[in-house]
Amino acid sequence: MRYAMAIDTKKCVGCSDCVVACQTENFVPIGSSRDWIVEEVNGRFPKLRMEIRSERCNHCKNAPCVRTCPTGSSHYSDGGIILTIPEKCIGCGACVISCPYDARYRHTEGYIDKCSFCHHRVTQGLPTACEAVCPTYCIIFGDLNDPESEISKVLQTREYKTLIPHAGTEPQHFFLI
Ligand code: SF4
Ligand code: SF4
Repeated sequence: MRYAMAIDTKKCVGCSDCVVACQTENFVPIGSSRDWIVEEVNGRFPKLRMEIRSERCNHCKNAPCVRTCPTGSSHYSDGGIILTIPEKCIGCGACVISCPYDARYRHTEGYIDKCSFCHHRVTQGLPTACEAVCPTYCIIFGDLNDPESEISKVLQTREYKTLIPHAGTEPQHFFLI
């Protein structure tokens, strides 16, 4: 099992339904979020293209947040999902500084929190909260080790990119372009 997510940037309309669904599902405090929307203009005038991305933790294969966490709160879990254990977190912020994607925030209770790829849902066979509500079906989540999964097929047929690839973190979050 190797969990991964892809966002079809040609379908994302930036409605933020995914952000609200995640905040509700994961009891994220008001003013914080585990996922967010980025709007980027690419190209040169007059050939410009607006790329809209729903972003979150990349669940990196080579995760600096896991390496720098002194207590083992940040760790690799089922299918490569990176999780945090609030009870083990001392709030030092080492993981926040080492993450090149600014994917973590400080919870109002002091510990560091971030996207969990809805581990509690996907391990029960349910879609992630963001995938479940996306009105344009641009979020694809699944098992990269299964050649028949939708995410495996889409990454074989579509052009895609990862964010900040030179950081060497091997993100498992892909953006179809
Ligand atoms: Fe994009 Fe889907 Fe999120 Fe809306 S719900 S912003 S379309 S990813
Ligand atoms: Fe860690 Fe950041 Fe990679 Fe998520 S995106 S696994 S928080 S380094």
